[in-house]
Amino acid sequence: TEACLAEIEDAGALNAFVHMTPEIAIDQARAADARIAAGEAPAMCGMPLGIKDLFCTREVPSQAASHILNGFRPEYESTVTQKLWDAGAVMLGKLNMDEFAMGSSNESSVYGNAVNPWRRDDDDAPLTPGGSSGGSAAAVAADMCLAATGTDTGGSIRQPAAFTGIVGLKPTYGRCSRWGVVAFASSLDQAGPMTKTVRDAAIMLGAMAGHDPKDSTSADLVVPDFEAAITGDIRGKKIGIPREYRMDGMPAEIEKLWADGAAMLRDAGAEIVDISLPHTKYALPAYYVIAPAEASSNLARYDGVRYGHRAKLAQGDGIVQMYEKTRAEGFGPEVQRRVMIGTYVLSAGFYDAYYNRARKVRTLIKRDFETVFAEGIDAILTPATPSAAFGLGEMAEADPVQMYLNDVFTVTVNLAGLPGIAVPAGLDAKGLPLGLQLIGRPWEEGDLLNTAEVLE
Ligand code: GLN
Repeated sequence: TEACLAEIEDAGALNAFVHMTPEIAIDQARAADARIAAGEAPAMCGMPLGIKDLFCTREVPSQAASHILNGFRPEYESTVTQKLWDAGAVMLGKLNMDEFAMGSSNESSVYGNAVNPWRRDDDDAPLTPGGSSGGSAAAVAADMCLAATGTDTGGSIRQPAAFTGIVGLKPTYGRCSRWGVVAFASSLDQAGPMTKTVRDAAIMLGAMAGHDPKDSTSADLVVPDFEAAITGDIRGKKIGIPREYRMDGMPAEIEKLWADGAAMLRDAGAEIVDISLPHTKYALPAYYVIAPAEASSNLARYDGVRYGHRAKLAQGDGIVQMYEKTRAEGFGPEVQRRVMIGTYVLSAGFYDAYYNRARKVRTLIKRDFETVFAEGIDAILTPATPSAAFGLGEMAEADPVQMYLNDVFTVTVNLAGLPGIAVPAGLDAKGLPLGLQLIGRPWEEGDLLNTAEVLE
């Protein structure tokens, strides 16, 4: 814990941690020492972690990297973080992220962007760690903590993991409780581990997962021993390669990474099968209707009354002006854009044309996966991202759609509620990490982790 706290000080320029909790960390580390001395060592005992700012942590600033939650210190602890503390983990502090987890580069944060610890071989330009869990990814990649929590609504665990050369697991929807995690799009959001190895992800998921009566969408299932599922034996497993993920203009090095990954799994005894997921091309448009729709509804609670920031009012301003000024000052441009899109697609005249249509497309995407799983496919291999980490500022704010295209390989998993994992799989021509994604059957994270470990 002390070594991590020192490392965080040294790596301040990466802007990964936005709030430190050294007193809590030292107390928890001492308690972990005492548990170990007493012969009791739960799974995460003494493990120093960073926590994404989206998780509510008792008495500790929890702002979702937004100005509108300025000064918010929850009176309660999220179920997932409470489970980690119960399992002996240590909280070093809160991690940077895109505002309300909306973004793919960590550039929409009120704290300014986090920076990727990696650099291209041929230039020194700072790169994005990805987003929205960019601080989590940078902190794990730069050894500021042993692991971090992330959340994934459309790729926010897997894309930053791929950009920083670490492992990121988005569990099956309902595996981890969403209680106390600031809501973005409730039917898509899932918390998960961001770690250095696949085995660490298995151990940490075991501590985070489990039924929670406070989240009606959390599944009432026994949490299996994910670590025990990692046997190294994938003989006879059927791995699908979906042809619709072979995009026009896909860089040759991504193609090669994908082929090399398939070859590794084949060499380990798996069967590689060409499959079709025909509705893939509609996933991004459906996601960018459904996610903003749910966000516009979830973010209605930030009204200047209940939490955080309230605008200064002028003489004669009423409650409507208070709402308007507070939300105009409190939300950044990307969040305002999502609220506007969401409100539009839910409005009476457009509900059927956009929101209802997107929900139907979502069902078709889910069925595509059900069909291939029913045909015996155990996991699906795809690239995690269309490219390596890009330069900060490179995807101009002026063209948000460019940024949205980054999520092309990850959003299907959230729409279908499936588990997906990003595993580091090599370096591009400029020495930057690239990741592969494995998508698994619902509730079979153990199997998914076992296959992922072969790629490691
Ligand atoms: N990049 C996607 C978005 O901006 C995904 C975000 C996420 O998974 N939280 O919506």
